[in-house]
Amino acid sequence: MLALDDIDFDGARVYAIPMTTRFRGITVREGMLLRGPAGWGEFCPFPEYDDRTAASWLATAVEQCVLGWPEPVREEIPVNCTVPAVVPDRARDIVAASGCGTAKIKIADHADSLAEDVACVEAVRDALGPSGAIRVDANAAWDVDTAIRHIRQLDTAAGGLEYVEQPCPTIDELAAVRRAVDVRIAADESIRRAEDPMRVAVAGAADVAVIKCTPLGGVRQALRIAEAAGLPCVVSSALETSVGLGAQLALAAALPRLDFACGLGTTSLLRDDVVAESLRPVDGVLPVPRTPPEPAPDRLAAVAQADPDRVAWWRDRLHRARAELAKAPEKGRW
Ligand SMILES: [Mg+2]
Repeated sequence: MLALDDIDFDGARVYAIPMTTRFRGITVREGMLLRGPAGWGEFCPFPEYDDRTAASWLATAVEQCVLGWPEPVREEIPVNCTVPAVVPDRARDIVAASGCGTAKIKIADHADSLAEDVACVEAVRDALGPSGAIRVDANAAWDVDTAIRHIRQLDTAAGGLEYVEQPCPTIDELAAVRRAVDVRIAADESIRRAEDPMRVAVAGAADVAVIKCTPLGGVRQALRIAEAAGLPCVVSSALETSVGLGAQLALAAALPRLDFACGLGTTSLLRDDVVAESLRPVDGVLPVPRTPPEPAPDRLAAVAQADPDRVAWWRDRLHRARAELAKAPEKGRW
């Protein structure tokens, strides 16, 4: 593939950045930064992903550093703040300090969480006021009956939920819950591969699709997938540094419609960044970068992976993902 020949694979940099909060079981975010003729891109598939999956992540980096992004239709992206499983007072403080008009609460942290979740939703409504939007994310924790029961109570406690994200694991279960409740259902974990949004839409499993261009193979590919699925989209991060987050912002900026705040205020989960000025929301809004963010030499040096075994592991992985991408050009339809 021609685009791959334009990238300095041998000069790719491996970073390791401690996280402020344990997330997906990881405490250090690792990845690579690649340089091409249009700028830098980020390759950061989670460690357990296989090479075929990693190839789609590489396609996103290739698009960014060889082609750049499609034209934006907006210059700013509203983002939500995220409330982890915390006591209500802490939830109220997080939301009040964020400046965001939309809050996403992580619920269903354990089997008996309903009373805690209700108290947390009430505290967040108190902090946001009546005009704010509250969404909850169950991370596929419930069966259908539990989901229906909990969603009804949480919707009442919230004075109306914006949506419930991934109440159950499967697409069929999401569809069953969606038929039974009045609250919108958003699919997140059910959307990881290019064909997934269409499956969700056809099954009537969701009102909203949570999409991430990073695992889907790039901004243009994600735009095509969003259009084919025909669902309103919420763009959400894959815990990138500001370089990779730029692609997600470019996607949010290029979607013909953006009805909901996006889950892109995530650089605060990383203790450091690779750019001089991290992409951080102000008053609940992130500006869309005009060009792919450039790493700063001193930040790159500060976050460089020091463990030679990890550097070798990433270089080998990049090499294999490149071979996979060259074999599967449909992953990189820019
Ligand atoms: Mg989610």
